[in-house]
Amino acid sequence: MIRLTSDFECGNGKEIEQLAATRFRLQVDGDKQSGYCGYFCFDIINEGPPADVTVELWEDAKFESPTGFRTLFPTTIWFKPVDFHRFRPLPGTPPASIQGHITFTVPVEQDQRVRVAMTYVAPYSEVAALLGGLADTRADRCEPFSVGTTVQGRDIPGLRAGTPGKPKLFCVAGQHPHEHAGVWGVFGIADFVSSLLPAAQALREHLDMYIVPTVNPDGNVLGRNAFNAEGFDMYQAFGDTPDADLPEAHESKLLWNWVATERPALWMNFHCFTGWRLNSELPYDGWYEVEDRTLFSDPDQRRLYAAICDTMRLETDGPSTHERASIHGPNTLCYQFAKRLGVPHAFYEINNATAGKHQGGQRAIHVFKRVTNTLLHYV
Ligand SMILES: [Zn+2]
Repeated sequence: MIRLTSDFECGNGKEIEQLAATRFRLQVDGDKQSGYCGYFCFDIINEGPPADVTVELWEDAKFESPTGFRTLFPTTIWFKPVDFHRFRPLPGTPPASIQGHITFTVPVEQDQRVRVAMTYVAPYSEVAALLGGLADTRADRCEPFSVGTTVQGRDIPGLRAGTPGKPKLFCVAGQHPHEHAGVWGVFGIADFVSSLLPAAQALREHLDMYIVPTVNPDGNVLGRNAFNAEGFDMYQAFGDTPDADLPEAHESKLLWNWVATERPALWMNFHCFTGWRLNSELPYDGWYEVEDRTLFSDPDQRRLYAAICDTMRLETDGPSTHERASIHGPNTLCYQFAKRLGVPHAFYEINNATAGKHQGGQRAIHVFKRVTNTLLHYV
């Protein structure tokens, strides 16, 4: 007997139907149109002999118009036995979307439970435990800190490394909770800054670094695409009211208050793309900027921001998707931090199709090294 479930941490999949002994249909549970309606993560539980299980995965029927499957797929589909330590790409050619669904086949061994997902999943509990492990075993080089507690009562854990009194650097991921390569990326940065590498040692001497891989733990655990537990998008943080005193989501307010109080010299924010249909060159990463540099009223901060933008364009794979930067709107934290607090940003998007735990870390660490190299010339 074979069955499917999405009832676990980071799970996403609904209206599950068994069409035949080894054929199933289900829908994704989307948040909003375009890129936030494609995330899926479900388990195939096989209590019988080996089988090739065919899955029809459909767009969310609660949205009347197409929800973005055409642009998200094809992409790498990641799978693993649930007890295995790593995901790997599903064999074969990744399917394109046809009339609102994709169809693919998953090999499942006897009495095996296999997890299938759109991303190399970075569960909150796993990342928090790994972060705690770094803090425990490297107490001479780093310490735990917390941004606060989520709507549902989860801690938002971070790792601090560096020298008190030096310029602060704040680095986060997971505003959009399904963008797991970014979470793995920023966990990789936490590993890097607390490591024994000479470059990390030098950064600890010159900066005070605060690294937070999962800023939206509730959304992560609930398997959301874009939202927190309240149904707010932490990237479009101010919604329809960019001039409001505070952003909408509880966790965005925590980020706002942290930055307003601590006044970092720079903040870094990692997000993700998925798929390659609209993209140009491998590895299909991207980056964002604010268009109006005069948002920074201080000439020194404006010049630092221009140098960070040069860094992103010239020294990272950010241009591999669109060649040019995407633009932050006035309702984003990046825009309002620039305008109200003068805090510049480095905003990078890792592709979920070409990065999992290792590649996410490698690309994020590379961006981090280049950005901090520039930063240290200006602070
Ligand atoms: Zn995002």
